[in-house]
Amino acid sequence: MSEQRVVVVTGASRGIGRSIAVEMAGPQSHIIVNYNSSPEAAKQTSALVESRGGASTAMQFNVADPTAVKAAFKQIIDAHGRVDVLVNNAGIAKDNLLALMKTGEWDDVLDTNLKGAFLCSQAVIKPMMRRHYGRIVNVTSVVGVIGNAGQCNYSAAKAGIIGLTRSLAREIISRNITVNAVAPGFIETEMTLAIPQKSREALLSQIPAARYGAPQDVAAAVAFLASDAAGYITGQVIHVNGGMFMG
Ligand code: NAP
Repeated sequence: MSEQRVVVVTGASRGIGRSIAVEMAGPQSHIIVNYNSSPEAAKQTSALVESRGGASTAMQFNVADPTAVKAAFKQIIDAHGRVDVLVNNAGIAKDNLLALMKTGEWDDVLDTNLKGAFLCSQAVIKPMMRRHYGRIVNVTSVVGVIGNAGQCNYSAAKAGIIGLTRSLAREIISRNITVNAVAPGFIETEMTLAIPQKSREALLSQIPAARYGAPQDVAAAVAFLASDAAGYITGQVIHVNGGMFMG
């Protein structure tokens, strides 16, 4: 059984998830780097974690697949005896106006972004309850609060994450398990590279900090909520958006 802090970060092969994995790395941590379709990128994340003196395992599973999630967390708990921290970060966007949105675009986004967080949380909750310790941090989005034209599916999933966070927080704080969310604004990753230049400029004009966010800006907030210092904070949504929205 591992003496190290066992941290699972979903969607850690790239972008914000990679940054969270690296931010939480250190000699006292074993970071499980989950990915879906980018094994080489996940290996690079693991190498970055190890370069900070931490242990790491890259692990493929689709967070939207109940059987795969169950099997993966069984493997993790069999190997390490526990999960101390779960970061539900994996996410996708399939933007379209509602009038044109295909059912598949709705289902894919809800399945990955919302059902994925439900499945992974459910997989860790009983072992956390038995140990009377746990930290769950969910990555939502500013658009889950303020909405965004063209993102009804994504915004609904991200708003759902906030409801999940608050309800689960109430269910399990008595077991010393906290559940919080981080809501990034516009962060420069592959996900936002797809946004046309004109829209990027329009977005920038709405950010008082006058810059886009970096993945590290989000990772720092996640690491704080996952720390022992944050033990009395639960059911909260921390906005990391350069002042774009103040909730
Ligand atoms: P990204 O660069 O596109 O990375 C997405 C990550 O999620 C990848 O590691 C990907 O893994 C993983 N993933 C996707 N589907 C998965 C699945 N079914 N199972 C497991 N992993 C899966 O995105 P990002 O910008 O870093 O976003 C990370 C999170 O922050 C998402 O939840 C996103 O909604 C949220 N967010 C981002 C922004 C932003 O401005 N970038 C703003 C608000 C919220 P593979 O490469 O292996 O498929």
